[in-house]
Amino acid sequence: MVGDGWCFGLVVGGGGNASRKARLIARAGGRVVVGAAFLTDEMQALVASTNGECHFSGCEKKDLDSGMLVICATDDKHINRQLSELALAQRLPVNVVDSPSLCSIITPAIVDRSPLMIAITSGGEAPVLARQIRAKLEVMFPSSYGALAQIASKFRGVVKASLTSGEQRLRFWQTVFEGPVAEKAFSGRLLEAEQGIQSLLESYQQIGSAALQGEVYLVGGGPGDPDLLTFKALRLMQQADIVLYDRLVSEGVLNLVRRDAERVYVGKRRDDHAVAQQDINQLLVDYAKQGLRVLRLKGGDPFIFGRGGEEIELLAENNIPFQVVPGITAASGCSAYSGIPLTHRDHAQSVRFLTGHTKDGRLDLVWTSLLDTRQTLVFYMGLVSLEEICRELIAHGRDNDTPAALIEKGTTTNQRVIIGSLNTLTVKVKNAEVRAPTLLIIGSVVSLHKELSWFLTDKS
Ligand code: SAH
Repeated sequence: MVGDGWCFGLVVGGGGNASRKARLIARAGGRVVVGAAFLTDEMQALVASTNGECHFSGCEKKDLDSGMLVICATDDKHINRQLSELALAQRLPVNVVDSPSLCSIITPAIVDRSPLMIAITSGGEAPVLARQIRAKLEVMFPSSYGALAQIASKFRGVVKASLTSGEQRLRFWQTVFEGPVAEKAFSGRLLEAEQGIQSLLESYQQIGSAALQGEVYLVGGGPGDPDLLTFKALRLMQQADIVLYDRLVSEGVLNLVRRDAERVYVGKRRDDHAVAQQDINQLLVDYAKQGLRVLRLKGGDPFIFGRGGEEIELLAENNIPFQVVPGITAASGCSAYSGIPLTHRDHAQSVRFLTGHTKDGRLDLVWTSLLDTRQTLVFYMGLVSLEEICRELIAHGRDNDTPAALIEKGTTTNQRVIIGSLNTLTVKVKNAEVRAPTLLIIGSVVSLHKELSWFLTDKS
Protein backbone atom coordinates (compact mmCIF):
# COMPACT_ATOMS: atom_id res chain seq x y z
CA MET A 1 0.00 0.00 0.00
CA VAL A 2 1.32 3.45 -0.78
CA GLY A 3 0.59 6.74 0.90
CA ASP A 4 -1.65 8.38 -1.72
CA GLY A 5 -4.61 10.14 -0.21
CA TRP A 6 -7.18 7.97 -1.90
CA CYS A 7 -6.08 4.66 -0.51
CA PHE A 8 -6.89 3.54 2.92
CA GLY A 9 -7.25 0.52 5.08
CA LEU A 10 -10.56 0.31 6.87
CA VAL A 11 -10.27 -1.30 10.28
CA VAL A 12 -13.43 -2.22 12.08
CA GLY A 13 -13.22 -2.92 15.78
CA GLY A 14 -11.51 -1.20 18.68
CA GLY A 15 -9.59 -3.97 20.47
CA GLY A 16 -5.98 -5.12 20.46
CA ASN A 17 -6.29 -7.01 17.17
CA ALA A 18 -7.67 -3.92 15.45
CA SER A 19 -4.83 -1.76 16.79
CA ARG A 20 -2.21 -4.23 15.61
CA LYS A 21 -3.58 -4.23 12.09
CA ALA A 22 -4.02 -0.46 12.08
CA ARG A 23 -0.39 -0.05 13.11
CA LEU A 24 0.69 -2.10 10.10
CA ILE A 25 -1.50 -0.10 7.72
CA ALA A 26 0.02 3.11 9.10
CA ARG A 27 3.55 1.74 8.82
CA ALA A 28 2.92 0.79 5.20
CA GLY A 29 1.93 4.39 4.46
CA GLY A 30 -1.86 3.92 4.28
CA ARG A 31 -4.64 5.97 5.87
CA VAL A 32 -6.27 4.34 8.83
CA VAL A 33 -10.06 4.58 8.71
CA VAL A 34 -11.73 3.05 11.72
CA GLY A 35 -15.24 1.96 12.46
CA ALA A 36 -15.63 1.53 16.22
CA ALA A 37 -17.80 2.89 19.04
CA PHE A 38 -14.75 3.73 21.07
CA LEU A 39 -11.17 4.56 20.14
CA THR A 40 -8.17 3.80 22.31
CA ASP A 41 -5.49 6.48 22.61
CA GLU A 42 -3.26 4.52 20.28
CA MET A 43 -6.00 4.18 17.65
CA GLN A 44 -6.78 7.91 17.87
CA ALA A 45 -3.12 8.66 17.33
CA LEU A 46 -2.95 6.32 14.33
CA VAL A 47 -6.01 7.93 12.75
CA ALA A 48 -4.61 11.41 13.34
CA SER A 49 -1.09 10.64 12.12
CA THR A 50 -2.32 9.02 8.89
CA ASN A 51 -4.91 11.67 8.15
CA GLY A 52 -7.55 8.97 8.56
CA GLU A 53 -11.17 9.03 9.71
CA CYS A 54 -13.34 7.54 12.35
CA HIS A 55 -16.93 6.27 12.09
CA PHE A 56 -18.31 5.92 15.58
CA SER A 57 -21.67 4.58 14.50
CA GLY A 58 -20.26 1.66 12.52
CA CYS A 59 -19.56 1.32 8.82
CA GLU A 60 -21.84 1.30 5.84
CA LYS A 61 -21.42 0.47 2.22
CA LYS A 62 -20.36 4.01 1.26
CA ASP A 63 -17.57 3.96 3.82
CA LEU A 64 -15.92 1.30 1.77
CA ASP A 65 -15.89 3.40 -1.39
CA SER A 66 -12.33 4.05 -2.55
CA GLY A 67 -10.90 1.80 0.16
CA MET A 68 -8.07 -0.59 -0.56
CA LEU A 69 -8.30 -3.06 2.23
CA VAL A 70 -10.85 -4.01 4.86
CA ILE A 71 -9.95 -5.55 8.19
CA CYS A 72 -12.71 -6.70 10.56
CA ALA A 73 -11.60 -7.22 14.12
CA THR A 74 -14.83 -6.96 16.10
CA ASP A 75 -16.13 -9.57 18.52
CA ASP A 76 -19.51 -9.51 16.78
CA LYS A 77 -19.76 -12.40 14.31
CA HIS A 78 -22.77 -10.81 12.62
CA ILE A 79 -20.98 -7.52 11.91
CA ASN A 80 -17.88 -9.38 10.74
CA ARG A 81 -19.95 -11.43 8.29
CA GLN A 82 -21.84 -8.38 6.99
CA LEU A 83 -18.68 -6.38 6.40
CA SER A 84 -16.98 -9.28 4.75
CA GLU A 85 -19.91 -9.62 2.33
CA LEU A 86 -19.96 -5.88 1.64
CA ALA A 87 -16.25 -5.84 0.95
CA LEU A 88 -16.40 -8.86 -1.32
CA ALA A 89 -19.29 -7.33 -3.24
CA GLN A 90 -17.11 -4.29 -3.87
CA ARG A 91 -14.16 -6.52 -4.78
CA LEU A 92 -12.13 -5.19 -1.90
CA PRO A 93 -9.63 -7.49 -0.20
CA VAL A 94 -10.96 -8.37 3.22
CA ASN A 95 -9.48 -9.99 6.29
CA VAL A 96 -11.63 -11.06 9.23
CA VAL A 97 -9.51 -11.82 12.26
CA ASP A 98 -9.69 -15.48 13.26
CA SER A 99 -12.29 -16.37 10.59
CA PRO A 100 -10.46 -17.75 7.56
CA SER A 101 -13.71 -18.60 5.78
CA LEU A 102 -14.72 -14.90 5.67
CA CYS A 103 -11.36 -13.74 4.33
CA SER A 104 -10.28 -13.12 0.79
CA ILE A 105 -6.76 -12.35 2.02
CA ILE A 106 -4.76 -13.41 5.00
CA THR A 107 -2.28 -11.26 6.87
CA PRO A 108 0.91 -13.18 7.47
CA ALA A 109 3.07 -12.90 10.56
CA ILE A 110 5.98 -10.72 9.51
CA VAL A 111 9.58 -10.16 10.42
CA ASP A 112 10.09 -6.57 9.44
CA ARG A 113 13.62 -5.66 8.45
CA SER A 114 12.46 -3.00 6.01
CA PRO A 115 13.09 -2.90 3.16
CA LEU A 116 13.51 -6.60 3.77
CA MET A 117 10.34 -8.36 4.84
CA ILE A 118 9.83 -11.99 5.76
CA ALA A 119 6.23 -13.19 5.82
CA ILE A 120 5.11 -16.42 7.45
CA THR A 121 1.67 -17.82 7.02
CA SER A 122 -0.13 -21.02 7.83
CA GLY A 123 -3.02 -19.95 5.60
CA GLY A 124 -5.02 -19.11 8.72
CA GLU A 125 -4.83 -22.73 9.91
CA ALA A 126 -2.29 -22.43 12.72
CA PRO A 127 -1.52 -18.76 13.43
CA VAL A 128 0.21 -19.48 16.75
CA LEU A 129 2.66 -21.80 15.01
CA ALA A 130 3.36 -19.10 12.43
CA ARG A 131 4.03 -16.67 15.27
CA GLN A 132 6.45 -19.10 16.91
CA ILE A 133 8.34 -19.47 13.67
CA ARG A 134 8.42 -15.71 13.41
CA ALA A 135 9.99 -15.51 16.89
CA LYS A 136 12.73 -17.86 15.72
CA LEU A 137 13.35 -15.85 12.57
CA GLU A 138 13.45 -12.63 14.62
CA VAL A 139 16.47 -14.03 16.43
CA MET A 140 18.13 -15.43 13.32
CA PHE A 141 18.02 -12.12 11.49
CA PRO A 142 19.21 -9.30 13.74
CA SER A 143 17.49 -5.95 13.22
CA SER A 144 20.63 -4.70 11.48
CA TYR A 145 19.66 -6.73 8.38
CA GLY A 146 17.32 -3.85 7.59
CA ALA A 147 20.16 -1.34 7.77
CA LEU A 148 22.27 -3.56 5.50
CA ALA A 149 19.46 -3.80 2.94
CA GLN A 150 19.04 -0.04 3.02
CA ILE A 151 22.71 0.54 2.40
CA ALA A 152 22.65 -2.00 -0.45
CA SER A 153 19.70 -0.28 -2.07
CA LYS A 154 21.63 3.00 -2.19
CA PHE A 155 24.34 1.31 -4.26
CA ARG A 156 22.15 -0.83 -6.45
CA GLY A 157 22.02 1.57 -9.40
CA VAL A 158 25.68 2.43 -9.45
CA VAL A 159 26.72 -1.23 -9.11
CA LYS A 160 24.51 -2.18 -12.03
CA ALA A 161 25.98 0.61 -14.14
CA SER A 162 29.60 -0.15 -13.19
CA LEU A 163 29.67 -3.94 -13.30
CA THR A 164 28.24 -5.02 -16.60
CA SER A 165 28.51 -8.77 -16.20
CA GLY A 166 25.67 -10.40 -14.24
CA GLU A 167 28.10 -12.99 -12.91
CA GLN A 168 30.34 -10.28 -11.51
CA ARG A 169 27.42 -8.46 -9.89
CA LEU A 170 26.26 -11.69 -8.28
CA ARG A 171 29.70 -12.31 -6.81
CA PHE A 172 29.91 -8.67 -5.71
CA TRP A 173 26.66 -8.75 -3.77
CA GLN A 174 27.43 -12.15 -2.26
CA THR A 175 30.66 -10.69 -0.96
CA VAL A 176 28.85 -7.67 0.41
CA PHE A 177 26.20 -9.71 2.22
CA GLU A 178 28.47 -12.38 3.64
CA GLY A 179 31.73 -10.54 4.18
CA PRO A 180 33.22 -7.70 6.19
CA VAL A 181 30.73 -5.13 4.85
CA ALA A 182 27.79 -7.03 6.32
CA GLU A 183 29.64 -7.63 9.55
CA LYS A 184 30.25 -3.90 9.87
CA ALA A 185 26.55 -3.21 9.37
CA PHE A 186 25.66 -5.90 11.95
CA SER A 187 27.99 -4.22 14.43
CA GLY A 188 26.24 -0.88 13.84
CA ARG A 189 29.19 0.65 11.93
CA LEU A 190 27.00 1.80 9.04
CA LEU A 191 29.26 4.48 7.69
CA GLU A 192 32.15 2.04 7.52
CA ALA A 193 29.87 -0.48 5.82
CA GLU A 194 29.06 2.09 3.12
CA GLN A 195 32.72 2.90 2.70
CA GLY A 196 33.38 -0.83 2.46
CA ILE A 197 30.91 -1.21 -0.42
CA GLN A 198 32.41 1.78 -2.14
CA SER A 199 35.97 0.48 -1.94
CA LEU A 200 34.92 -3.05 -2.90
CA LEU A 201 33.23 -1.63 -5.95
CA GLU A 202 36.34 0.31 -6.89
CA SER A 203 38.47 -2.83 -6.54
CA TYR A 204 36.01 -4.79 -8.68
CA GLN A 205 36.18 -2.13 -11.36
CA GLN A 206 39.97 -2.35 -11.38
CA ILE A 207 40.75 -6.02 -10.98
CA GLY A 208 37.47 -7.90 -10.78
CA SER A 209 36.62 -10.43 -8.09
CA ALA A 210 40.31 -11.10 -7.37
CA ALA A 211 40.01 -8.07 -5.14
CA LEU A 212 38.06 -9.98 -2.53
CA GLN A 213 39.18 -9.17 0.95
CA GLY A 214 39.22 -11.92 3.51
CA GLU A 215 38.33 -11.70 7.14
CA VAL A 216 39.01 -13.66 10.29
CA TYR A 217 36.40 -14.60 12.87
CA LEU A 218 37.92 -15.51 16.21
CA VAL A 219 35.07 -17.43 17.76
CA GLY A 220 34.63 -18.97 21.18
CA GLY A 221 33.06 -22.40 20.76
CA GLY A 222 32.26 -22.84 24.46
CA PRO A 223 33.17 -25.78 26.69
CA GLY A 224 31.42 -28.56 24.76
CA ASP A 225 27.64 -28.43 24.69
CA PRO A 226 26.75 -26.94 21.26
CA ASP A 227 23.64 -25.35 22.73
CA LEU A 228 25.94 -22.96 24.56
CA LEU A 229 27.10 -21.27 21.34
CA THR A 230 26.03 -17.69 20.75
CA PHE A 231 23.83 -16.83 17.76
CA LYS A 232 26.66 -14.76 16.36
CA ALA A 233 29.10 -17.64 16.65
CA LEU A 234 26.68 -19.88 14.77
CA ARG A 235 26.10 -17.32 12.04
CA LEU A 236 29.82 -16.85 11.40
CA MET A 237 30.43 -20.60 11.57
CA GLN A 238 27.86 -21.02 8.83
CA GLN A 239 29.47 -18.55 6.45
CA ALA A 240 33.17 -19.36 6.84
CA ASP A 241 35.14 -20.76 3.90
CA ILE A 242 37.76 -22.43 6.09
CA VAL A 243 37.99 -23.34 9.76
CA LEU A 244 41.07 -23.73 11.96
CA TYR A 245 40.11 -25.54 15.12
CA ASP A 246 41.60 -26.87 18.34
CA ARG A 247 41.39 -30.16 20.15
CA LEU A 248 39.08 -28.59 22.72
CA VAL A 249 36.36 -27.81 20.18
CA SER A 250 33.73 -30.47 20.66
CA GLU A 251 32.45 -32.68 17.87
CA GLY A 252 28.94 -31.29 18.32
CA VAL A 253 30.18 -27.74 17.84
CA LEU A 254 32.33 -28.65 14.85
CA ASN A 255 29.33 -30.27 13.18
CA LEU A 256 27.67 -26.86 13.04
CA VAL A 257 30.37 -25.35 10.83
CA ARG A 258 29.31 -24.92 7.19
CA ARG A 259 29.49 -28.34 5.61
CA ASP A 260 31.64 -27.40 2.65
CA ALA A 261 34.12 -25.32 4.65
CA GLU A 262 37.66 -26.68 4.57
CA ARG A 263 38.78 -27.97 7.98
CA VAL A 264 42.28 -27.50 9.33
CA TYR A 265 43.18 -29.12 12.65
CA VAL A 266 45.71 -27.03 14.51
CA GLY A 267 45.00 -28.87 17.73
CA LYS A 268 46.79 -28.48 20.93
CA ARG A 269 47.54 -31.21 23.38
CA ARG A 270 49.64 -30.36 26.37
CA ASP A 271 53.14 -29.55 25.19
CA ASP A 272 52.36 -31.11 21.82
CA HIS A 273 51.20 -28.40 19.49
CA ALA A 274 50.12 -29.88 16.18
CA VAL A 275 50.91 -26.49 14.69
CA ALA A 276 53.15 -24.02 16.51
CA GLN A 277 51.45 -20.84 17.71
CA GLN A 278 53.40 -18.52 15.37
CA ASP A 279 52.46 -20.75 12.47
CA ILE A 280 48.77 -20.58 13.40
CA ASN A 281 49.02 -16.78 13.57
CA GLN A 282 50.64 -16.73 10.14
CA LEU A 283 48.14 -19.20 8.64
CA LEU A 284 45.28 -16.88 9.60
CA VAL A 285 46.98 -14.01 7.80
CA ASP A 286 47.76 -16.12 4.72
CA TYR A 287 44.25 -17.52 4.33
CA ALA A 288 42.63 -14.12 4.81
CA LYS A 289 44.95 -12.65 2.18
CA GLN A 290 43.60 -15.22 -0.27
CA GLY A 291 40.21 -13.57 0.22
CA LEU A 292 38.82 -16.33 2.43
CA ARG A 293 36.51 -15.94 5.39
CA VAL A 294 38.54 -17.69 8.00
CA LEU A 295 36.96 -19.10 11.14
CA ARG A 296 39.36 -19.52 14.03
CA LEU A 297 37.34 -21.70 16.34
CA LYS A 298 38.55 -22.15 19.90
CA GLY A 299 37.27 -23.93 22.96
CA GLY A 300 35.61 -21.79 25.62
CA ASP A 301 36.29 -18.09 25.31
CA PRO A 302 39.10 -16.95 23.01
CA PHE A 303 40.33 -14.33 25.47
CA ILE A 304 40.53 -16.59 28.53
CA PHE A 305 43.69 -18.71 28.43
CA GLY A 306 43.02 -18.94 24.72
CA ARG A 307 45.88 -16.99 23.14
CA GLY A 308 43.23 -15.13 21.18
CA GLY A 309 45.06 -11.88 21.78
CA GLU A 310 48.25 -13.17 20.16
CA GLU A 311 46.40 -14.43 17.11
CA ILE A 312 44.69 -11.16 16.32
CA GLU A 313 47.79 -9.04 16.95
CA LEU A 314 49.34 -10.26 13.71
CA LEU A 315 46.05 -9.70 11.88
CA ALA A 316 45.92 -6.13 13.14
CA GLU A 317 49.52 -5.57 12.00
CA ASN A 318 48.56 -6.84 8.55
CA ASN A 319 45.38 -4.74 8.36
CA ILE A 320 43.19 -7.79 8.06
CA PRO A 321 39.66 -7.26 9.30
CA PHE A 322 38.70 -9.51 12.18
CA GLN A 323 36.09 -9.86 14.85
CA VAL A 324 36.05 -11.65 18.14
CA VAL A 325 33.03 -13.57 19.40
CA PRO A 326 33.02 -14.48 23.08
CA GLY A 327 32.25 -18.01 24.15
CA ILE A 328 31.16 -19.56 27.41
CA THR A 329 34.42 -20.12 29.23
CA ALA A 330 35.07 -23.47 30.93
CA ALA A 331 34.69 -21.86 34.36
CA SER A 332 31.15 -20.66 33.60
CA GLY A 333 30.14 -23.83 31.80
CA CYS A 334 31.52 -26.23 34.42
CA SER A 335 30.20 -24.10 37.25
CA ALA A 336 26.66 -24.06 35.84
CA TYR A 337 26.59 -27.72 34.82
CA SER A 338 28.00 -28.95 38.13
CA GLY A 339 25.77 -26.79 40.32
CA ILE A 340 28.71 -24.93 41.87
CA PRO A 341 28.05 -21.18 41.72
CA LEU A 342 31.36 -19.32 41.47
CA THR A 343 30.17 -16.61 43.83
CA HIS A 344 27.49 -16.77 46.50
CA ARG A 345 26.64 -14.24 49.17
CA ASP A 346 27.23 -16.74 51.97
CA HIS A 347 30.41 -18.25 50.53
CA ALA A 348 32.47 -16.19 48.11
CA GLN A 349 32.55 -12.53 47.14
CA SER A 350 35.02 -12.89 44.31
CA VAL A 351 36.41 -15.46 41.90
CA ARG A 352 39.87 -15.87 40.45
CA PHE A 353 40.75 -17.64 37.17
CA LEU A 354 44.24 -19.18 37.25
CA THR A 355 46.32 -21.46 35.11
CA GLY A 356 47.82 -24.66 36.47
CA HIS A 357 50.09 -24.84 33.45
CA THR A 358 53.71 -25.18 34.42
CA LYS A 359 56.65 -23.29 32.97
CA ASP A 360 59.86 -25.32 32.98
CA GLY A 361 58.11 -27.88 35.20
CA ARG A 362 57.14 -25.29 37.84
CA LEU A 363 53.96 -23.46 38.74
CA ASP A 364 54.39 -19.73 38.49
CA LEU A 365 51.89 -18.55 41.12
CA VAL A 366 51.95 -16.13 44.04
CA TRP A 367 50.52 -18.49 46.67
CA THR A 368 50.14 -15.82 49.35
CA SER A 369 47.62 -14.07 47.09
CA LEU A 370 45.41 -17.19 47.09
CA LEU A 371 44.57 -17.45 50.77
CA ASP A 372 41.31 -15.46 50.97
CA THR A 373 38.65 -17.96 52.11
CA ARG A 374 35.91 -15.81 50.57
CA GLN A 375 37.38 -16.04 47.08
CA THR A 376 36.73 -18.99 44.75
CA LEU A 377 39.77 -20.26 42.86
CA VAL A 378 39.31 -21.76 39.42
CA PHE A 379 42.27 -23.53 37.86
CA TYR A 380 42.39 -24.16 34.14
CA MET A 381 44.88 -26.79 32.94
CA GLY A 382 45.26 -27.94 36.53
CA LEU A 383 45.09 -31.74 36.24
CA VAL A 384 48.79 -32.44 35.97
CA SER A 385 49.70 -30.11 38.81
CA LEU A 386 46.65 -30.90 40.98
CA GLU A 387 48.72 -32.47 43.71
CA GLU A 388 51.12 -29.54 43.84
CA ILE A 389 48.30 -26.97 43.88
CA CYS A 390 46.57 -28.63 46.85
CA ARG A 391 49.86 -29.14 48.70
CA GLU A 392 51.06 -25.55 48.23
CA LEU A 393 47.74 -24.06 49.27
CA ILE A 394 47.79 -26.07 52.49
CA ALA A 395 51.45 -25.26 53.07
CA HIS A 396 50.65 -21.55 52.73
CA GLY A 397 47.86 -21.71 55.28
CA ARG A 398 44.65 -22.86 53.59
CA ASP A 399 42.55 -25.27 55.64
CA ASN A 400 42.96 -28.98 54.81
CA ASP A 401 39.20 -29.29 54.59
CA THR A 402 38.67 -26.51 52.05
CA PRO A 403 36.17 -28.02 49.58
CA ALA A 404 37.51 -28.71 46.09
CA ALA A 405 35.99 -30.15 42.92
CA LEU A 406 37.39 -31.45 39.67
CA ILE A 407 35.03 -31.32 36.72
CA GLU A 408 35.92 -33.61 33.83
CA LYS A 409 34.61 -32.85 30.32
CA GLY A 410 32.23 -30.26 31.70
CA THR A 411 28.87 -29.59 29.93
CA THR A 412 29.19 -32.75 27.81
CA THR A 413 27.25 -35.95 28.35
CA ASN A 414 30.52 -37.46 29.64
CA GLN A 415 30.79 -34.91 32.43
CA ARG A 416 31.99 -36.21 35.80
CA VAL A 417 32.28 -34.20 38.99
CA ILE A 418 34.67 -35.36 41.67
CA ILE A 419 34.19 -33.71 45.03
CA GLY A 420 36.70 -33.68 47.87
CA SER A 421 38.88 -31.31 49.84
CA LEU A 422 42.41 -29.97 49.44
CA ASN A 423 43.43 -32.99 51.48
CA THR A 424 41.52 -35.71 49.64
CA LEU A 425 40.90 -34.61 46.06
CA THR A 426 44.21 -35.75 44.58
CA VAL A 427 43.73 -39.37 45.63
CA LYS A 428 40.09 -39.41 44.56
CA VAL A 429 41.03 -38.06 41.14
CA LYS A 430 43.79 -40.65 40.73
CA ASN A 431 41.36 -43.44 41.55
CA ALA A 432 38.77 -42.11 39.12
CA GLU A 433 41.16 -42.25 36.12
CA VAL A 434 40.18 -38.86 34.94
CA ARG A 435 40.90 -37.60 31.40
CA ALA A 436 41.40 -34.02 30.17
CA PRO A 437 39.93 -31.52 29.88
CA THR A 438 39.28 -30.89 33.54
CA LEU A 439 38.66 -27.83 35.62
CA LEU A 440 39.50 -27.42 39.27
CA ILE A 441 37.29 -25.33 41.55
CA ILE A 442 38.44 -24.61 45.10
CA GLY A 443 36.51 -22.87 47.86
CA SER A 444 33.48 -22.94 50.08
CA VAL A 445 31.07 -22.73 47.09
CA VAL A 446 31.92 -26.34 46.22
CA SER A 447 29.82 -27.45 49.21
CA LEU A 448 26.72 -26.22 47.31
CA HIS A 449 27.11 -28.95 44.67
CA LYS A 450 25.33 -31.51 46.80
CA GLU A 451 22.14 -29.49 46.79
CA LEU A 452 22.39 -27.69 43.45
CA SER A 453 23.66 -30.28 41.00
CA TRP A 454 21.13 -30.90 38.23
CA PHE A 455 22.93 -32.00 35.06
CA LEU A 456 23.11 -35.79 34.50
CA THR A 457 21.80 -36.12 38.04
CA ASP A 458 19.00 -38.56 38.57
CA LYS A 459 17.23 -37.15 41.61
CA SER A 460 14.29 -39.51 41.51
N1 SAH B 1 39.74 -20.68 26.31
C1 SAH B 1 39.29 -21.81 27.10
C2 SAH B 1 40.36 -22.35 27.97
C3 SAH B 1 41.52 -22.89 27.24
S1 SAH B 1 42.72 -23.59 28.31
C4 SAH B 1 38.06 -21.38 27.91
O1 SAH B 1 37.74 -20.21 27.99
O2 SAH B 1 37.44 -22.28 28.47
C5 SAH B 1 42.23 -25.26 28.34
C6 SAH B 1 41.68 -25.63 29.67
O3 SAH B 1 40.33 -25.24 29.79
C7 SAH B 1 41.64 -27.12 29.93
O4 SAH B 1 42.90 -27.60 30.34
C8 SAH B 1 40.63 -27.19 31.02
O5 SAH B 1 41.19 -26.82 32.25
C9 SAH B 1 39.65 -26.13 30.63
N2 SAH B 1 38.49 -26.70 29.92
C10 SAH B 1 38.09 -26.43 28.68
N3 SAH B 1 36.96 -27.09 28.37
C11 SAH B 1 36.64 -27.81 29.45
C12 SAH B 1 35.59 -28.70 29.77
N4 SAH B 1 34.62 -28.99 28.89
N5 SAH B 1 35.55 -29.26 30.99
C13 SAH B 1 36.52 -28.98 31.89
N6 SAH B 1 37.53 -28.14 31.65
C14 SAH B 1 37.60 -27.56 30.46
